[in-house]
Amino acid sequence: MPTTVGPIGIFGGTFDPIHYGHLRLAEEIIETAKLTEVRFLPSGTPPHRTRPGADPQHRVAMARLAVEGNDRFSVDDRETRRTGPGYTYDTLTEVRKEVGMQRPIALLLGADAFLELATWHRWRGLFELAHIVVAYRPGFPIDTWQARMPEPLAHEYAARYMQQPLAVHLAPAGGIAAVSMTGLDISATFVRTAVHTGSSPRYLLPDAVLDYIRTHALYR
Ligand code: ATP
Repeated sequence: MPTTVGPIGIFGGTFDPIHYGHLRLAEEIIETAKLTEVRFLPSGTPPHRTRPGADPQHRVAMARLAVEGNDRFSVDDRETRRTGPGYTYDTLTEVRKEVGMQRPIALLLGADAFLELATWHRWRGLFELAHIVVAYRPGFPIDTWQARMPEPLAHEYAARYMQQPLAVHLAPAGGIAAVSMTGLDISATFVRTAVHTGSSPRYLLPDAVLDYIRTHALYR
């Protein structure tokens, strides 16, 4: 069971459906930053996206199947139970209250999602609540990516950058770390399209998730 003291990873996404790109991101950041656990939080009605293909309860069920057997992974369905927009700021505020002020929290993001951060609701306030750990893939131009950030984000990045991902242990919140991860060019869009067109998405996601998709006739 996870301890109650080490850093917690919070990984939000549509997870429509969850696939090995998501699972591997969480696994690699757990290892690199030595997090105690990662909680996957499927979104309700995402503020930044068109409606997802599968209902929230299906996306939660698939995420639960995907994390089964990994003691350090769990699924938190709070965003799918919320009515109205599920802002990450509100979610992290709740989690912060639950875990107390001292325990480090790390919000996990893919590099593409991080570049959009300055469009999020109360994005600067996120740093009061958590660190951000960004995962980037091989070939990603990490040396020059600051130039691709909008100015306010580049400013926060420069001020908060932590060379060592392990630095998430040193404070409850406020830093930004970047971690390279094995590139897995998998997207939920590709999986949905494959199911829809009748081609096989097998080995891009856990078999249990694919079985669930078939049983519930999702993404047809
Ligand atoms: P879609 O194709 O529907 O847009 P997606 O596969 O990109 O979905 P999301 O649920 O939107 O998945 O992503 C949640 C988070 O996972 C984001 O931070 C995103 O950057 C990251 N992510 C998604 N796919 C990968 C992947 N293959 N490798 C690493 N990170 C990923």
